[in-house]
Amino acid sequence: MMQVCNLKKQFNNIMVLDDVNIDFNTKEVTCILGPSGAGKSTFLRCLNLLEEPTAGKILYNGKNTLDEKFDVRQLREDVGMVFQHFNLFPLKSVVENVMLALVLVKKMSKKMAREKALAMLDKVGLSDKADVMPHTLSGGQQQRVAIARALAMEPKMLLFDEPTSALDPELVGDVLAVMRKLANEGMTMIVVTHEMGFAKEVADRILFMADGNVVEDASPDVFFTNPNTQRAQAFLSRFI
Ligand code: ATP
Ligand code: MG
Repeated sequence: MMQVCNLKKQFNNIMVLDDVNIDFNTKEVTCILGPSGAGKSTFLRCLNLLEEPTAGKILYNGKNTLDEKFDVRQLREDVGMVFQHFNLFPLKSVVENVMLALVLVKKMSKKMAREKALAMLDKVGLSDKADVMPHTLSGGQQQRVAIARALAMEPKMLLFDEPTSALDPELVGDVLAVMRKLANEGMTMIVVTHEMGFAKEVADRILFMADGNVVEDASPDVFFTNPNTQRAQAFLSRFI
């Protein structure tokens, strides 16, 4: 579905991604682990072209995303992103947040967009919060609204960048439960996370990044019991 070939990203002469080569397959849940500064966020941001690669290629369904003729808008519709900070519009109600792109980007009528948004809120367990303002919700609820907003666009693939890192510990579980449900429904997901339990249980595949590259690409079974590199062993020992 997405092929990353010799991807490099440089900021001010510093090589943040150094020759990453990875294929992502449909319906696969990939968790990306790794220390701070490894380049995880930069990598995700390159995948949906929020960052422009310095070199290399990213193919989406065989098409070069860096080609001038490539439809970037379509890619952004197909590839949803959920961030650590939920980035909801504070002056719009919960359901309006979920509707917005449906009206503006998909050109849906307000009535239809609201119906769709309500269905998405139901999916994340928040149909009773449709008409409140985001600031009245807990962080975990706000993050579930952000997930509903991404789902409303009917993405082919969802990218998550530490979706639970900003949450109080007692709110993490509800967000992970929604993500687990999406994974079970066959959503293609790439999740940067520090939630080792989630990664172990839900991921089909673990990528471990360090110093701007993917240094391990393994099944959770192999990665968590028998990591290849010393970097990964040291990283994991901090979570035991
Ligand atoms: P964390 O776990 O802390 O989120 P990360 O693995 O997501 O870390 P990145 O945010 O991708 O790491 O950052 C990788 C490196 O790139 C860091 O050294 C960071 O300072 C640098 N970097 C990221 N974005 C920029 C930018 N816009 N300008 C300059 N340097 C950047
Ligand atoms: Mg990051």
